[in-house]
Amino acid sequence: MSGDTPRVLIVGAGPAGTRAAETLVAHGVAPVVVDENARSGGQIYRRPPNGFKRPAAALYGFEARKAQAVHAALDGLRERIDYRPDTMIWNIEGGVAQALGPDGIERIAFDALILATGAMDRVIPFPGWTLPGVFTMGGSQVALKAQGCAIGDPVVFMGTGPLLYLVAYQYAHAGARVAAVLDTSHLSQAIPVFPGLLRGGRTFAKGLWYMTWPRTAGIPVRRGITPVAAEGEAALEAVRYLDRRGRKHRITCTGLGIGYSVKSEVQLAELAGCEMAFDPLAQQWLPEADEDGRALKGSVYLAGDGAGVAGADAAEVRGRLAALALLADTGIAADRGLQARQRAKLRRIMRFRDALERAMPTPFHMARTLPDETVICRCEAITAGEIRQGRALDPAEMNRAKAFTRVGMGRCQGRVCGPAAAQILAAARGCGVEEVGRLRGQAPVKPLAIRAGAEAAIEDRARAASI
Ligand SMILES: Cc1cc2nc3c(=O)[nH]c(=O)nc-3n(C[C@H](O)[C@H](O)[C@H](O)COP(=O)(O)OP(=O)(O)OC[C@H]3O[C@@H](n4cnc5c(N)ncnc54)[C@H](O)[C@@H]3O)c2cc1C
Repeated sequence: MSGDTPRVLIVGAGPAGTRAAETLVAHGVAPVVVDENARSGGQIYRRPPNGFKRPAAALYGFEARKAQAVHAALDGLRERIDYRPDTMIWNIEGGVAQALGPDGIERIAFDALILATGAMDRVIPFPGWTLPGVFTMGGSQVALKAQGCAIGDPVVFMGTGPLLYLVAYQYAHAGARVAAVLDTSHLSQAIPVFPGLLRGGRTFAKGLWYMTWPRTAGIPVRRGITPVAAEGEAALEAVRYLDRRGRKHRITCTGLGIGYSVKSEVQLAELAGCEMAFDPLAQQWLPEADEDGRALKGSVYLAGDGAGVAGADAAEVRGRLAALALLADTGIAADRGLQARQRAKLRRIMRFRDALERAMPTPFHMARTLPDETVICRCEAITAGEIRQGRALDPAEMNRAKAFTRVGMGRCQGRVCGPAAAQILAAARGCGVEEVGRLRGQAPVKPLAIRAGAEAAIEDRARAASI
């Protein structure tokens, strides 16, 4: 701790990071807020580049007011915090975050850390998914929101989760031709959790509206499908799938958006020393934390989707709760009424989120039976068969599989392929996916220019020599 107030670093300027910063400032603490994006807002409230003129209502639909409120909150704080856009944290070690910003490599020392790093697309590979023209759901959205263009014409969206319908709606609304929405989940999965879904209130009503809208706009919606392949010579030409009764279908398209909800971004939490625990519903290893986001070890706090996916409203709540926990831990008197209200709100949202995950479950089992020749790790071109053959070398867990096959060793560091590779390895070994462990978080957590990495290494060596 330096001076009277702690040096707080917040990573992420989405809804969670913004509300955390706002809460700290309201209690006299001025954090450093870092985000790799050029503008604040995070994923859902991503702002278009300067000069783009689509109005908030067109960009964010029902969420326009919330988006504007979150943007205004951070804009209003800019004079009172040390806000660093275009800055990516690529390592955390011993109370220091290593950042790559517009001026190159920098080190940011902190007493307390709030990680509000959000989530990323969850992908289940299938034959042909690496063809040009196949995008993740998030990539499809970024193309539309930040670049004002569509991923193809016509476009098909395939996967499951609320984003599937939302992105289809956003594309159709922006004037793109959407040939079909193909959902791997089906209504029978939603019926048992219907009471939980009803707890979502307005959010559930909006979700239903997005789900029924394509049919009213004449866009075919098929539920309970199984993806078979994306086809094409040099680029995507069609997608093939099986319907619920196992009948084969083929749809011509030049753009295919795929995705199965989203998964938490947890690498920085791991590097910061958080304990990780397996979440059976998300089938992901998540940092352990209490209800307020206080990690079990060190002065680390988790907020927003990075602590487990729960959506943007929960992210705002968790941002406030993490900041309040930090304030309490550093002896700064905080608003207890606010804390109680936020906790109650979070519990309500979490009950709905649980039902939603069950109503539109990610079909993890599909990864287990992929044909041997399917590319799983696209950075290193490692196939499902190679991961299965790794069994001959008896890798007990994912990090050994990585060493033997190079799966997860490329640019994405296993963030995209890791979950599917773990399912394949577990199936080949006949065990549960939690038993094969997870790819350990490694710095740099995201691709870093070689020059920047070299600069950091030289600095580290010079620092070590001077000690
Ligand atoms: C691709 C995608 C699209 C989505 N689209 C929608 C949607 O349309 N509607 C909807 O309701 N929900 C959507 N969601 C879910 C929604 O975005 C989240 O629930 C919500 O944004 C969570 O807020 P957050 O603050 O936790 O994270 P985010 O809003 O994701 O913000 C996290 C921020 O952290 C920054 N960050 C992450 N890692 C680093 C790092 N190492 N260094 C520096 N900065 C970093 C990111 O740039 C980002 O700005 C989407 C999620 C994803 C992944």
